[in-house]
Amino acid sequence: MSSGFDYDVAIVGAGPAGIGTAVAIDHLEVDSIVLERDCIGASFRQWPAEMRLLTPSFPANAFGARDLNAITPDTSPAFALDREHPTGDQYAAYLEAVSEFHDLPVRTGVDVESVSPGPATDADGSGFALETADGTITSDYVVWAAGQFQYPSDGSIPASSHAVHISSVDRVVSSRGRNGRRDSGLVVILSDRSQ
Ligand SMILES: Cc1cc2nc3c(=O)[nH]c(=O)nc-3n(C[C@H](O)[C@H](O)[C@H](O)COP(=O)(O)OP(=O)(O)OC[C@H]3O[C@@H](n4cnc5c(N)ncnc54)[C@H](O)[C@@H]3O)c2cc1C
Repeated sequence: MSSGFDYDVAIVGAGPAGIGTAVAIDHLEVDSIVLERDCIGASFRQWPAEMRLLTPSFPANAFGARDLNAITPDTSPAFALDREHPTGDQYAAYLEAVSEFHDLPVRTGVDVESVSPGPATDADGSGFALETADGTITSDYVVWAAGQFQYPSDGSIPASSHAVHISSVDRVVSSRGRNGRRDSGLVVILSDRSQ
């Protein structure tokens, strides 16, 4: 496609949005790259072990609909993983499998620290420069698919100091006090971000 840039399209983030976008443009004649600071499906890898996807998959298929958790029209995490409500690790494995199948150009361990418009390499000032610890990467287009999970707005609501964001919880264990009642000392915010 265009010249003067390292890539036509730079996708930041290898979650469902980033991997899904990379598959969608895979058949186009564009030179693309997926830049991921951690690993494919990193947000899901951080889920507490007990957590499951709530979105159902199988029931909708009875009506010919797609798996609601699928990122491509021809895959189904429910069928691939043989379960309707996968854990975070299982869903991340599905994302890895899709990436592997399409041989997507994913670079992990690359944190995009900033994005600025118009690198000097391009005469008309279009395009973007992405600053990373590995150096500057230029591209004609940028798809920001970095999600919200890893950017909680802690402290943005009154009394939020009494709650923790789900991204900082490793395990969800049910505990009971001596009187048999559940302890109620912890509020967990089960959201992409606390607003
Ligand atoms: C507790 C919980 C339960 C959920 N349950 C469901 C459910 O049942 N069904 C459902 O459909 N959805 C569910 N969701 C929502 C779902 O997880 C999100 O909608 C989904 O992860 C968003 O995908 P994404 O690709 O936009 O972002 P993410 O999955 O967060 O991916 C973003 C990626 O970008 C990377 N990244 C971030 N910043 C940078 C950077 N600067 N440079 C490089 N890489 C970067 C991250 O490491 C990450 O891998 C749930 C979310 C939570 C928190």
